[in-house]
Amino acid sequence: MVNLMRIGLYPGTFDPLTLGHIDIIRRASRLVDTLIIGVAINNAKSPMFGLEERVQMINEEINPIANELEIQISTHPFENLLIDCAKDVNANVIIRGLRAVSDFEYEFQMVGMNRVLSDKIETVFLMADNSYQSIASKLVKEIARLGGETEEFVPRSVQKRLLSFSNTKRNRINS
Ligand code: ADP
Repeated sequence: MVNLMRIGLYPGTFDPLTLGHIDIIRRASRLVDTLIIGVAINNAKSPMFGLEERVQMINEEINPIANELEIQISTHPFENLLIDCAKDVNANVIIRGLRAVSDFEYEFQMVGMNRVLSDKIETVFLMADNSYQSIASKLVKEIARLGGETEEFVPRSVQKRLLSFSNTKRNRINS
């Protein structure tokens, strides 16, 4: 019998989760029965937030979305190859978000190489709403580090953590 359950894997570093990511999670939720957010440990990128905190921030935001859209959404930390993570969670489809032309070249190469490693798992690209397309975790972190407002870019739970991060840093500089 053919298994018609669609399992999507949306991988990323999510350092931290932004409104752009959330928009993609909502859009992906309409395409699959189960959505797994793959959280890359990615120590090489020296993340601002540890794995546990990144996962926690995502969990806080996905529960209401899962209830509202009546699908299953969960988090899955991973350190191995993306394609192996997709196999581990039985994903049929990998979801990626596309912002500007700058994302395209890297994503294009990744799909090509992943296809060599396994041609059974398709990658689907989604675009966020216009108002979220320019949001990038990297810039959010820069803004927070310099004491700027991040509320337009991240959910409230993330904003609070970013604030406490920049306050701790400021206190350290002033002491
Ligand atoms: P990575 O380390 O894989 O780049 P990110 O956490 O930065 O992970 O992003 C995860 C995924 O979400 C990527 O596919 C990225 O292109 C996508 N993404 C991030 N921000 C946005 C946004 N504002 N709009 C659309 N897609 C986005």
